Amino acid sequence: MKVPSCLTDKLSKMTFCSAAITDNFLTLFGTEFLYNFVGKHVGFCFIDHIHPDFVEEFKETVLSVAPHTSSRLVTMMRDMDGLYHMIDILITNNNRTLKDEAVRDLTLFNICATEARHIKYTDDINKYKTYLSLYHDYLFDYDVERDSLAIFLYMERRATVLYNSSLAEFHEFVLSHLTASEDINDFKIFYNHLAGAIGDFSCKASLPSLTESFRIDKFQIDGKVMIKYNQKPIVQGILSPADKDCVPFYASREGKDPATSLLNKRACFEYTSDILTIQENRKHYMAIIDIDNFKSINDNYGHLFGDEVISGIANILSNTLNGRGIIGRFGGDEFYLFTNNVEAEDNLRIFLTAARQQIRYTFEKKHPELHVTLSIGVSLYPDDGRTYDELFQKADKCLYIAKSRGKNRFIIYDEEKHGSLQNEDNVLRITANPIEQAEYLAKILADLTITVLKEGASCLSSIFETICSNFEVDGIRIYCGTELKPVYDNGKYKKIPQISHLLTDEKFLKYYNGNNCLLINNLPNFEANSKEFCNSLRENNILGCIGFRFTARDGGDIFFFYDIFNHAIRWNESNKNYLLALSRIIASVL
Ligand code: GH3
Ligand code: MG
Repeated sequence: MKVPSCLTDKLSKMTFCSAAITDNFLTLFGTEFLYNFVGKHVGFCFIDHIHPDFVEEFKETVLSVAPHTSSRLVTMMRDMDGLYHMIDILITNNNRTLKDEAVRDLTLFNICATEARHIKYTDDINKYKTYLSLYHDYLFDYDVERDSLAIFLYMERRATVLYNSSLAEFHEFVLSHLTASEDINDFKIFYNHLAGAIGDFSCKASLPSLTESFRIDKFQIDGKVMIKYNQKPIVQGILSPADKDCVPFYASREGKDPATSLLNKRACFEYTSDILTIQENRKHYMAIIDIDNFKSINDNYGHLFGDEVISGIANILSNTLNGRGIIGRFGGDEFYLFTNNVEAEDNLRIFLTAARQQIRYTFEKKHPELHVTLSIGVSLYPDDGRTYDELFQKADKCLYIAKSRGKNRFIIYDEEKHGSLQNEDNVLRITANPIEQAEYLAKILADLTITVLKEGASCLSSIFETICSNFEVDGIRIYCGTELKPVYDNGKYKKIPQISHLLTDEKFLKYYNGNNCLLINNLPNFEANSKEFCNSLRENNILGCIGFRFTARDGGDIFFFYDIFNHAIRWNESNKNYLLALSRIIASVL
């Protein structure tokens, strides 16, 4: 239905009101906004204000609501000036009667006015958030209904949660740190105010530091009880440290990157370390985020626009995360994310996908040909490490893999796929510097060559893992011998593709290029060439692969395949060339 402009131009002041009507549609009661809206007082006939086209539908709906149920209806209602408005009415039958007449309770929402009210509330909320950001004390709230206590700081208009647990967990956490009986008694008073949720209070308490383990800080606490829309209480208040110096570095001006107001590197490190101490039983994701090809954005659109891209990305990342952790900037085009309230991997994926799409969309509006994309590496506490350094190395390794697999993607660390820190052969990359990376891979290639030439074919099964983790492939298989059967593989296949007959079929072999290389970035694209080949890969969830064909010492053929499981790939040129060289060397000993 097209909404007439008179409704959106001339908004009624009534956004929300309620009423009670009889079965004869007589208004028994209405809130002030209802009387202002219709310009009448109690006792008016409700259906006189429903548009004639909708009266029957309204009557039928009201009378058909069974006791203790509700029904909803969108209708057109006339205001005192004769203008019709689109009203969403919730009709509830509470099985009440008044003077022998059945009563229905109505809740009315003026749909067009709701938008204007929403905008006003958003502005108000932002205004108060700005005030709170200037405030450096800790804030807390305890939602009794959800049994959820949060202690947080306002930073850049976002509540950044430092502690979040049930009241019983908070009790245990605090008492495990306090030893002096005076401190324990003070804490019990505070605890009782939270648990009781009655009235205002003011007390003093010593609590474990939220920013430095083993330290006890003294706080002046002022609290109030707020009643939610459903009459359930929330205890809210301020924790003012007696020693103002115990406000953490990340809440101070010095902890901010001046260009974006995001946390700087030291502040990110300190926030992460604090959260890992005080929320050690939760899951936390760390992500290192780097803008793709940012140098070319600077070169093509100018440095000023480059700065705009950096601050735009900073805003989108922090708006999307919305206080469920922190976003930092490590300088240049590198950002940092640490979550504190995103537990499910699916939620992290939704966050990353939404932020990446919004970033792309935002800059495409200005320059349609420009696609601003991010590469992101992610690690998870406690599965991938218990310290900042361990988590950082793994997230950084994944960022490097994301870059080398063609950028514009996020990769979540998976030990099976990406190697472990302890394994000497799988030394993790600590830098995404491409020159260092090439030197590192050249060294790996040389070491592998020496092993192959020294030990011959017998070393193959032991070097496959090193090849997989360093050249970012998941599976390796080699077909050789007179029947071209699969002779070597790294043991990760569900069922080794049986493709010997294809490897002697000239029609299939023509897909190898002049260097005897067959490159498949995305399986569906190769489907038209050989469905059978694609099906054999699909059985193993192989979505990308690279194949090489060589002549063996006995004159027969040798085929190498390097496979990627579960995702499509844009092959990194240097990895491809390293694998080509290595395959040639291996072929020489088979
Ligand atoms: P890659 O996809 O591999 O990340 O390539 P890239 O071009 O993004 O390369 P890299 O991340 O190494 O380069 C970052 C560049 O960002 C280097 C520097 O010129 C530029 N840069 C760093 N800080 C700023 C800044 O504050 N503003 C602008 N406009 N450019 C910056
Ligand atoms: Mg970059």
